[in-house]
Amino acid sequence: LMQLSVPLNFIGFVYREIRQGLTDMEEMFNLLDIRQEVKDRPGAPDLVVAQGAIRFEDVRFGYDPERQILRGVSFEVPAGKSVAIVGPSGAGKSTISRLLFRFYDLDSGRITIDGQDISEVRQESVRKSIGIVPQDTVLFNDTIRYNIRYGRPSASDEEVQKAADLAQISRFIELLPDGFDTMVGERGLKLSGGEKQRVAIARTLLKSPPILVLDEATSALDTHTEQDIQSALQLVSRHRTTLTIAHRLSTIIDADEIIVLRAGVIVERGSHRDLLQSNGLYAEMWRMQREESEAEETLRRAREAD
Ligand code: ATP
Repeated sequence: LMQLSVPLNFIGFVYREIRQGLTDMEEMFNLLDIRQEVKDRPGAPDLVVAQGAIRFEDVRFGYDPERQILRGVSFEVPAGKSVAIVGPSGAGKSTISRLLFRFYDLDSGRITIDGQDISEVRQESVRKSIGIVPQDTVLFNDTIRYNIRYGRPSASDEEVQKAADLAQISRFIELLPDGFDTMVGERGLKLSGGEKQRVAIARTLLKSPPILVLDEATSALDTHTEQDIQSALQLVSRHRTTLTIAHRLSTIIDADEIIVLRAGVIVERGSHRDLLQSNGLYAEMWRMQREESEAEETLRRAREAD
């Protein structure tokens, strides 16, 4: 029996690993609504991540040959630092994160992680080293514990609890009828956008990837939830190379560098303060968002007064 149990355990382990690899990818493809187009070179080695520095070198890319979306984009996210990409709708912000995951190959230029060209290594090894907190998290029809542990299937109950604490969702879970054993997902308890995002944060904390991509929710959460999520996100991204695709500027003012993309070209870059001072597109976007959120606030107050 002993002899048999070892290989069976091993098979179980391999199965879980493979299953996780598959579901991660499926999840990504569903989320990003794209299909797999790139192939690994035969015998391509795995990416080896030491520090997790990202470099885009004169990246040119279009989904169709007639229409270039990124037209010579170069930037760097030094290991452990945070860079945010902002810009008008359709500028190519999400395209940058898709290319980092190597969902497509480039027309020209290079993307490297710790000096290794990501098109020269196995795709799966690239995706494994990047954690993503997506705009909309897929929950499995299973317990909330399973959904959090999915970030690292070998995590203990205590580790799951700790990740939930850090992601600021444990208070919510403890109030559920069966606590961590409550069924969630399509056929279970439905979670709100903010709750789902916190599950995603807890998962990512367990996975603990060297590189993090934050694809910010476009849908507005209420200010209170927004602040909770921001502080949880700050915790995940601390000391971790972080690329944020930002839709609201208020969440990225502390980024080490902000890159302003317009029609596939970087038009401005610098800290929040530098960019406000230079009074260009970023400053204009900042003023517009301020006015919008003030208008929303006034509307909300008026409604509450009714
Ligand atoms: P938003 O702020 O609205 O999310 P974005 O800056 O993230 O915009 P992208 O999603 O990167 O913009 O899209 C850039 C351009 O590429 C858009 O014009 C879009 O229509 C086009 N595009 C995006 N995905 C595809 C695709 N799969 N096939 C063809 N064109 C695409």
